[in-house]
Amino acid sequence: MASAKNSIRQFNGVAASPGIAIGLAKVADRTKVPVTESIITADQVQAEITRFLNAVAAAKDELQSLKIQIEAEQGAEHLYILDTHLLLLDDSMLKEETIHCIEHQNLNAEGSLKRTLRKFKELFDSIEDDYLRERGSDVDIVGERILRKMVGIVQEDIKEIDGKVIIVAHDLSPADVLQLDKNRVIGFVTDLGGKTSHAAILARALGVPAVVGLETVTSHIADGDHLMLDGSVGSVVHNPDNETFRDYLARKQYYEYCDRELAKLRDLPAETTDGHRIKLKGNIEFIEEADSLTRHGAEGVGLFRTEMLFMNRATLPDEEEQFQAYFEMLQAIKPHPLSIRTLDVGGDKFVPGLNLADELNPALGLRAIRLSLRNPETFRPQLRAALRASAHGKIRLFFPMISTIGEIRAAKKIIAEIKDELASKNINFDHNIELGVMIEVPSAVLIADQLAGEVDFFSIGTNDLIQYTLAIDRTNEHLSHLYQPVDPAILKSLEMVVTAAHRAGIEACICGEMAGDPLYLPILLGLGFDELSMSPPSIPRVKSILRRCSLSAAESLVQKVLSAESAAEIEALLKGEIAASFSDSID
Ligand code: PEP
Ligand code: MG
Repeated sequence: MASAKNSIRQFNGVAASPGIAIGLAKVADRTKVPVTESIITADQVQAEITRFLNAVAAAKDELQSLKIQIEAEQGAEHLYILDTHLLLLDDSMLKEETIHCIEHQNLNAEGSLKRTLRKFKELFDSIEDDYLRERGSDVDIVGERILRKMVGIVQEDIKEIDGKVIIVAHDLSPADVLQLDKNRVIGFVTDLGGKTSHAAILARALGVPAVVGLETVTSHIADGDHLMLDGSVGSVVHNPDNETFRDYLARKQYYEYCDRELAKLRDLPAETTDGHRIKLKGNIEFIEEADSLTRHGAEGVGLFRTEMLFMNRATLPDEEEQFQAYFEMLQAIKPHPLSIRTLDVGGDKFVPGLNLADELNPALGLRAIRLSLRNPETFRPQLRAALRASAHGKIRLFFPMISTIGEIRAAKKIIAEIKDELASKNINFDHNIELGVMIEVPSAVLIADQLAGEVDFFSIGTNDLIQYTLAIDRTNEHLSHLYQPVDPAILKSLEMVVTAAHRAGIEACICGEMAGDPLYLPILLGLGFDELSMSPPSIPRVKSILRRCSLSAAESLVQKVLSAESAAEIEALLKGEIAASFSDSID
């Protein structure tokens, strides 16, 4: 396919949304508005302020009409992202800083806005949490919308694109992605963006393959060029030769075959060959993911990370807003249960409305349940909202990072008080709501038998348990080789927790990433876990292995594994086992 003039070129970026697309490129001009700073005279100041404020108002009107249009065409499902942008357009700091700059630095409106945006961006860039840092891109997108209004640039309408194409753009705003016609746009690639940018989140929710963060891809590709992308690994090929084309085509067919085969498992039980059932549930952060739960056959939500309701906004959500979020989620997953984890912030998860102080050791700091117990004015409304929602469907409530028995008792005491309050006001709730603790620090493992007497279930957060047990920062890429889910210390911890749970007659669940890796399924099954909760797209693959395992073989495997001395030895054993027993597995 590639001629000498158009030689093959490969780009690697961030795997934003899985799937393979092969087609022609359509370059969407999303280049930034060029801004020149110029000094203005004192008598121009007022006119520049007016020009800036008019541009903000026009950007707001435009976004509001877009919202109405998208809602009419596709429903309201993903519109919360546009609401975030509308909030930014209303942000008083953005306006005040820019006006201040016009007035006191005598800079033109574009230059002043650009400086303000840079300040905002620097604030976001200093945040460690990937998701929050990526929110800086929302500031960019909103800033560009205002700048376009100021200089009078009209962007090409992404809806007008014809034919089946792969969009190539410097960046895509959430509004752009929402407007993509899935029948015509088969994928997209962008210079900017990360895994948690809103464009990437929406692409996953809408099932559009995408690779982002390709840095300079737009400078190499022209309209009509042949393009292929693999959104599962983050690769893009420009002007493919015949061999690469055949390879991608085969991958695409295999990917689609796997999806079709795995989709057949959706309504089949998560059951071993010897009739042992476990529950496979989904971990979610947004209501938009409810559809993905259904598509992948989740039996409910095993972990609702409620912190997303608190992030990316200046004020905290009140009880009513939280109640609505839990209520909507319950409706979306009915008749399945919803496990709500109370706020897990602090450390590297930043919530502006909480005014958290900087800490020297954030991972060991005032976070998760410690923060909730210290801030009853935030904790109580969340508990009240969850309890009220429990009148409308099955809710389980659990607490992150419990490290002492005192913490769970303190949380239960507050719940008992809230139950009394609600009962005295005749407000309905589930009197027997199930409570759980997350086991994610070594002290909780060591006192699991005592904790088990306090609650109805355990949910092991292996992401943190591995970090705290092996003393490895889970976000440090230089230590990733040591971050081993099957380290003997971790497997012993898992065994202690399941044993303690079952001795007390309560459920043992896992909701860390380990639960979604098919390689570890035989161990988790053999150890006796009752529930595994994972990213919804992982469920079919885990289920496909589970349905071909027997509990008795998994239990024997666990005996072998528990006497092994290193993670490497255990990994090799597992890979051998999977290769021998599931050579035809879909992966
Ligand atoms: C975990 O620690 O395994 C977990 C599920 O919680 P989070 O990843 O949100 O810390
Ligand atoms: Mg955790």
